[in-house]
Parts: sequence; C-alpha cells; structure tokens
Amino acid sequence: MGRLVMKFGGTSVATIERIQNVARHVKREVDAGNEVAVVVSAMSGKTNELVGWATEASALHDAREYDTVVASGEQVTAGLLAIALQALGIQARSWLGWQIPILTDDAHASARITGVEGGEIIARFKNAKEVAVIAGFQGIHKDSGRITTLGRGGSDTSAVAIAAAIHADRCDIYTDVDGVYTTDPRVVPKARRLDKVAFEEMLEMASQGAKVLQVRSVELGLVHNMPVFVRSSFDKPEDIDPHGMPPGTLICSEEEIVESQVVTGIAFSKDEAQISVRHIQDKPGVAASIFGPLADASINVDMIVQNVSEDGKFTDLTFTVPASEFTRAKDTIAKAKAKIGYTKLDTATDVAKVSVIGVGMRSHAGVAAKAFAALSERNINIRAITTSEIKFSLLIDAAYTELAVRTLHTLYGLDQA
Ligand code: ADP
Ligand code: ASP
Ligand code: MG
Repeated sequence: MGRLVMKFGGTSVATIERIQNVARHVKREVDAGNEVAVVVSAMSGKTNELVGWATEASALHDAREYDTVVASGEQVTAGLLAIALQALGIQARSWLGWQIPILTDDAHASARITGVEGGEIIARFKNAKEVAVIAGFQGIHKDSGRITTLGRGGSDTSAVAIAAAIHADRCDIYTDVDGVYTTDPRVVPKARRLDKVAFEEMLEMASQGAKVLQVRSVELGLVHNMPVFVRSSFDKPEDIDPHGMPPGTLICSEEEIVESQVVTGIAFSKDEAQISVRHIQDKPGVAASIFGPLADASINVDMIVQNVSEDGKFTDLTFTVPASEFTRAKDTIAKAKAKIGYTKLDTATDVAKVSVIGVGMRSHAGVAAKAFAALSERNINIRAITTSEIKFSLLIDAAYTELAVRTLHTLYGLDQA
C-alpha cells in the first residue's frame, strides 16, 4: 500500500469521456490499495478562454479579479471528477484551494505557495478511504482571504505541494505525452523519451521553455525530494500492469541516475525579446543605471552581453526580457535615458532562445564549442550566449528555432535510433 498524488492536465480532462477515463485510472490505484489525492487542471482551452474574457472586460484589470475568474476552470473539473468517481462506487470529495487550504502569498496571477494543510485529507484516507479531488492552480492569501492562482501551468505545482504536505510516496503527473523527452516531441519527431532526469536538469529544461512541468513544481520536488513521475493519461487503465512500472520519466535526485549523458536535453523558447542599448559610456555605474530601473519595475532580465570597448570610452549592452515584458522594459529604459546616456535603442522580438542542458557538462569541456561550429555551418547567427554549470543558451533569430534544435539534437547524439 502506498500514498499517491495523481495530477491530470487539461487535455486529460478535456471532455466528460476523458474525465471518466481519469476516474478509471484513479479507481485502478484505489483498487491496488493506495491512498489517493488527485489534482486536476481546467479542461484544455478553458483557462485561455477565461484569461481572454478578463482581458476583454478590461485590458488593465485588477489582478485579484483576474484570479477570481481564471480559478473557476479547475472548480468545474474537480467537481466533475468527484461525480465520475462516485459513479464508479468510489468515495470521493472535491476540494478548492481555500478549503484545503493551500496558502499562498498575494502575488496575484503568479502566487507562490507558502503552506498546505494536509491533515484533513490524511484523516479522511484513514477514516473513510476517501479520495480527495483537488482543484489545481489555485490557493488563498490568508490575510486578505482572496483567491489566488499560481501562474500558467500551476497545477503541476499544486500537485507536488500536496504530495509533500500529505507525505506521498510519489507524485504522478499524467499528461498528453508519455514522459519527458530529449526535446519537445511535437517539434522534433526523433526526440527520445528519458527514463530518468535529475531535478537540476529538469529545473533548467522547464525554466528554458519545456512546458511539460511548471518550474516551481520541479523546485518543490527538489526541496522535498519528492519523486515526480511524468506519464501518459491516454493509456487505457485496464491495460496497465498493476505490478510493473508503465512508460514514463522519473524526475529524481542525481544520485539515482547511474548512466548520465553529457547532454540530456534541449529546450527552446520563442517568448524572448532583445534590447540593445547603444553607445553608452564604459565606466562603473552604467550597468546599474540600466538594470536598477528594470529591477524596480520587477522585470526579469535573462541574457546580458556587454561588448568590450575598443577605445575604453564607449560600448554597447544587449539583454533579453520575456516577450510579455518587452514594451514595459523598453519604456523603462527610455524613461531613464538621461541617466544612462545612450544614443539609441535597437530591439528585436523575433528572437528565440535555444538551451542545451546536461549535468554531464560539469565534467566535460568543449560541449558548447561544438554547437557554435554546427550552427555556423547552417548559417545560423548567434546573437547572445549565456552559460551555467549544466547549461548553455543561445539567442538566435526565431525563424531558425526548429532547424537549430534539430541540428543540436543530432549533434549531441540524442536522436532516436
Ligand atoms: P498538461 O495540460 O497535461 O499540463 P502541457 O501542455 O502543460 O500538458 O505539457 C505537455 C506538453 O509539453 C507536451 O504536449 C509537449 O508538447 C510539451 N513539451 C515541451 N517540451 C517537452 C519535453 N522535453 N518532453 C515532453 N513534452 C514536452
Ligand atoms: N489551467 C491552468 C493553465 O492552463 C493550470 C494548469 O493547467 O496547470 O495554466
Ligand atoms: Mg501543464
């Protein structure tokens, strides 16, 4: 007997029929003797629709009311799954974020979980063999009592947080692919499923654009050392061997991975914008005059490249921000023009970041150098580069994203045989 969290994403609960299929998956685990808490997303497309409605009502809407609107999608699926489970003769009860409660800070639309009360769920496992069906993506800010949401893809984070709070043995993330692949299998058909991925690698993959898991869910998995297993919800529950492990990817600590490759995976993101600040003085304090105002405006800066000036007097500085923050970032820099003292801004929004990730990079030299040569052979220009211990990222023209990802995928021996 074990204790499990089972999380089902939007495509897995997109119709009543699929919700009934999910209910049979849950029944399978209950019949095997497990205590189960389920976390559900909204039906696929629903959250986009709700976000669209909030924006249509007013482009500059109150973030608290945005959360009230967008949290509703998960309320529907939690209730529906509880109904479908009861119809199979399983004791089940739905829970909204505030009922558990899942406590968060007050950063509406991208709130962070600060605590989860797991006691009542555990008590009901014990007393009534009751399955908890929990609405993902939502929480409550204790002081204001308002509903919050955890940012797009946040149900993954709800699931791992619940798993930690109820001391689950594992958190299963059921989605529309049967695991984590070397890169997005919808873009590179030759992508290979990985059996195991280290938390640190998954953290990089998720934060560099692999949306299969929300970044914060991986952070929580790492902090609580909670094994996270990514698997498909489209398998027929009846076909799954109750004793074996189905296809999927285990996200776990690095020590559990016996054989590690130099490169584990490639992630990419087209959600980037580039800003180049031209002809600034090459002297102390100038970078602070650029990045200070951006930090004050809570704009995340990612890649930064500063040229070394030839004459020691003037230089250029290039950085990237998320595409959604582009206009705000440009305006923030323009407002600080007198203080920064630049001549002009060059910007580009048709750029993409391709990142190559692997813990093996710690002990291998020259991994990135190979990429530069391969991309130059394809005439792909690199606009900016950043590196960390287990990753390097390249900024390129968005039009070349797929070509670059496929080229690097082959280069590092990741293609399926
Ligand atoms: P859910 O609705 O179940 O949360 P998501 O759409 O958020 O599902 O995440 C699953 C999707 O992530 C897949 O359909 C796939 O296109 C995409 N994806 C991106 N990178 C990867 C990767 N490296 N491995 C697997 N899937 C990936
Ligand atoms: N429904 C939310 C979203 O689409 C949360 C999730 O699916 O994880 O972002
Ligand atoms: Mg998701």
